[in-house]
Amino acid sequence: MASGPASIGFVGLGNMGIPMVTNLVAAGFDVVASDVSPEARSRAAEAGASAVDTAREVAAAAGTVILMLPNSQIVKSVVDSMVGSLAPGSLVIDMSSSEPLRTRELAEQLATRRIRMIDAPVSGGVGGAVAGKLTIMVGGSPADVASAAPVLAAMGRVVPAGPIGAGHAIKALNNLLSATHLWITAEAMTAGERFGLDPAVMLEVFNSSSGRSGSTENKFPNFVLTERYDSGFGLRLMLKDMRIATELASQVGVPSILGEEAVTLWAEAADELDPAADHTRVAQYVATAERGAIAT
Ligand code: NAD
Repeated sequence: MASGPASIGFVGLGNMGIPMVTNLVAAGFDVVASDVSPEARSRAAEAGASAVDTAREVAAAAGTVILMLPNSQIVKSVVDSMVGSLAPGSLVIDMSSSEPLRTRELAEQLATRRIRMIDAPVSGGVGGAVAGKLTIMVGGSPADVASAAPVLAAMGRVVPAGPIGAGHAIKALNNLLSATHLWITAEAMTAGERFGLDPAVMLEVFNSSSGRSGSTENKFPNFVLTERYDSGFGLRLMLKDMRIATELASQVGVPSILGEEAVTLWAEAADELDPAADHTRVAQYVATAERGAIAT
């Protein structure tokens, strides 16, 4: 497959990265992709991308590079490895759920080399990534956001969020809400079941009433009640996002009291459960009296 400045680079080929690459290829982009995992690189090749061993090779082959990595620390180390190979004028798009203040620092560092950066984290989960229907919240200068629009449109709907870091801030705040909803939904469902209520009836009522949320509409029916626990979003990644949001709230002088309590609870679950546990396992954790006894 041809590569060159018009190619799209992609680093981070996990649960989200692979379906996003698949949609970029389907939209006609030449994608040059990399991941530390050889299996992930093979999956990208199967999806029609040119798989290369290192992020540096991605940087040398593409004028636009998308990152879909676990966290800000890894984003920084990957960008450091690429920076000498990125041409001036290149665009780095961090679609990971990263820390907004670290994103701003990284963008400032890249700007000294005339490399542009925007943040474009997503919601919609693996299902949204597969369907090409992610919500993409984008932070950056209007000109840089506009230049990324055709690429982002292959993966979902773009919502301009504000200056650099704005997308990452909204993403973290959204996940603080989502995680808090999931925990309280698990508590309510468990109490209702112990009272003798039918879970399906509870969800039907919640979903046509004011208790509804993504947890009642999607996570409980699809991943918890089915006992599949396979949403494709790791519990530890959710906890990372919750911490980003509560730290942001503290930094701006409005500490989130309920949010910090939710972080404590989720951290306790993360300590008990398998490191690779799906985030929907917290519902099982909440429901189980002998919490230490859950096998994941
Ligand atoms: P994942 O763990 O499935 O994938 C991450 C990938 O990054 C892995 O393939 C891993 O090998 C690779 N990687 C790690 N370090 C690397 C390095 N130094 N160089 C190259 N590759 C490296 O994670 P995911 O679920 O795909 O999530 C990716 C990002 O998207 C995270 O920031 C997450 O919070 C966010 N996110 C996930 C979901 C979801 O539903 N899974 C939804 C929205 C946002």
